[in-house]
Amino acid sequence: MVFKCKNCGGNVVYNPERHKMHCPYCDSLESEQKETTGESLTTCINCGGPIEVNEFTSASQCPYCDNYIIFDERVTGEYTPHLIIPFVFSKERVKLLLRDKFKSCVFAPSDFLSEAKLNSMSGMYVPFWMYDYHVRGVFDGQGNKIRRWRSGNTEYTETSVYHIYRDMEVDFDKMPVDSSDAMPDATMDLMEPYDYKALEAFKEEYMSGFFAERYNQDALAGEPRAVDKAKKDAESILKQSISGYVGVHSALNNQVTLQRTDTNYALLPVWIYNYKYKGEDYRFHINGQTGKIIGKVPVAAKKVWGYGATVFASLFTIMMLVRQLLLMF
Ligand SMILES: [Zn+2]
Ligand SMILES: [Zn+2]
Repeated sequence: MVFKCKNCGGNVVYNPERHKMHCPYCDSLESEQKETTGESLTTCINCGGPIEVNEFTSASQCPYCDNYIIFDERVTGEYTPHLIIPFVFSKERVKLLLRDKFKSCVFAPSDFLSEAKLNSMSGMYVPFWMYDYHVRGVFDGQGNKIRRWRSGNTEYTETSVYHIYRDMEVDFDKMPVDSSDAMPDATMDLMEPYDYKALEAFKEEYMSGFFAERYNQDALAGEPRAVDKAKKDAESILKQSISGYVGVHSALNNQVTLQRTDTNYALLPVWIYNYKYKGEDYRFHINGQTGKIIGKVPVAAKKVWGYGATVFASLFTIMMLVRQLLLMF
């Protein structure tokens, strides 16, 4: 599908700043009309040009007419997302963020923050599974409290043995696990946290203007990571509730059991800035909701040398000045 403007026929996209659909051609708001006839995964619905998509691509941009195309069959049926966090940061705002953050990096290549390079950035909705769990944690064991005191020459130690019992029930809501092979898990973890209170019911309109992927694996395949995290978190809550004792141990019952109560398929926004330098890829990921930036700036060796040379040159000038001053006296 493609969203077209009722007034001018231009491609209407979602505008994060206005939180509305916007036609960048005639500046109308909410003028979109959905077009789906003649849709295919290999040609652009707008101009008929060939489009390259991989097996997961659910939204892309036509390289010929620049229209943003959403692939109906990848956002419907079993692939319909339940939830979405729409982009909050537009490309223009991300450019400002990057310029602000890296303006002091004097060793970065000169075109690293150039308009042309930054314009190549693309917004991408990353597929996530979100799991809800009802967790029960039970601890049944022992712990000691020790009191020491001295009276005359005698030191006393009193050990009190306590039976410790905890029975805890806790609900974990929307534990996120990304379901994109292309997106490294470690990067996604670093980009946390998202504000999940801002999750909205999915609307195709939010995808217009961005790239997107459908989930790469089903909910079952992604679950071990969520279970692992839920268990660890529950264990830590249980542990925190047992404080003030020494030698805490349990022979019988120390366990966390969990039950999945709901699963949601969600899309989360990420800006990707791919900067190529001397044949190497420097990839920046920016949380599309919070603006958090993940990535390492390349260092331009020539610039380092240039910088050193400037220092050297100014030192040399100072020394010349000193010499001249000395000669004067
Ligand atoms: Zn228009
Ligand atoms: Zn096209």
